[in-house]
Amino acid sequence: MTTPTTTPETTTPETAAPAVLRLAGVSHTYAGQRRRTTVLRDIDYTFERGTFYTVLGPSGSGKTTLLSLASGLDTPTKGSITFNGQDLTKLGLGRYRNKHAATIFQQYNLLTYMTALQNVTTAMEITGAEPPTGSRRTHALQLLENIGLDKATATRNVMRLSGGQQQRVAIARALACDVDILFADEPTGNLDEDTAQGIIDTFRALAHDQSKCVVVVTHSQQLAAQSDRILNLRKGKLTEQANDR
Ligand code: ADP
Ligand code: MG
Repeated sequence: MTTPTTTPETTTPETAAPAVLRLAGVSHTYAGQRRRTTVLRDIDYTFERGTFYTVLGPSGSGKTTLLSLASGLDTPTKGSITFNGQDLTKLGLGRYRNKHAATIFQQYNLLTYMTALQNVTTAMEITGAEPPTGSRRTHALQLLENIGLDKATATRNVMRLSGGQQQRVAIARALACDVDILFADEPTGNLDEDTAQGIIDTFRALAHDQSKCVVVVTHSQQLAAQSDRILNLRKGKLTEQANDR
């Protein structure tokens, strides 16, 4: 590893390539009891690191389906998804979700028998995420405080928190895991304007200062206008719209 090399391509780490997640010919069909529903049709798109994306689209257009495929929760019925050039199914969906991609779910999916703090530290333990400094507990408390949940709130059972507070726990939990790609499904839906803006600023900083790829499904034009690239999902097709900020 320390031997100097004369071949320039070996001195460029693979992680320097901007492309991080590539969807090629991705279609998805749900098989119902009586009929099949094709939600996504032949989608080709490449997501890059260091970029904050938003995905807009009417209700039922397949936004959550797209996120569940891109985050490795489900596999497309047609086409392929590659992370850093490697097919997700070869990499292993569990490994991909554990080490490379974190998701803020629309329904939060918190562990209901735990406190807010335990939800965050447990996710760190499961994924093996190390805090930048101090203990996992201190780091988790800091992340929760950063998005407006003080220690007293953080140590309450999540079922005793409001919807907006639960949403913040879900966001802190995703931020605690040091991943390459962060997906979020309508993350600001239950938040007041100031808190929502704080979350948007956090997403932008993750993309621009930490070179993460951030993909956020939203109905909020305010949020979309602050992203680097706006994608529209309509009739199963994903298109990019000009963002003339
Ligand atoms: P969005 O998030 O844009 O509202 P979804 O991805 O949740 O859209 O859903 C897209 C379409 O796929 C909807 O018609 C929905 O009813 C259908 N759908 C979603 N999940 C399933 C499922 N597990 N089985 C069958 N149909 C589904
Ligand atoms: Mg949805």
